[in-house]
Amino acid sequence: MSENTLPRVEIDPDQCKGCELCIVECPKKVLELTDKINHLGYTYATYKGEGCTGCGICFYACPEPGAITVYKKQK
Ligand code: SF4
Ligand code: SF4
Repeated sequence: MSENTLPRVEIDPDQCKGCELCIVECPKKVLELTDKINHLGYTYATYKGEGCTGCGICFYACPEPGAITVYKKQK
């Protein structure tokens, strides 16, 4: 199985305001804040790189449309 077939999330750094709702809500605790600053001046959330189930909870928790994209497992 290639890495691309695993569920994962992508967070657009420049759409994120660092509210941490996705980090709190993720049942797998696979999101974290970076120590970098985006163009809005916020530290932003990022995917740790493994463990996402593609459940979509972070997507629904995020108040910023377009910040989080969830990729579910490919068949
Ligand atoms: S899709 Fe689910 S498991 Fe994956 S990062 Fe979002 S809340 Fe966590
Ligand atoms: S919920 Fe959205 S805006 Fe808040 S930290 Fe997560 S990605 Fe950023």
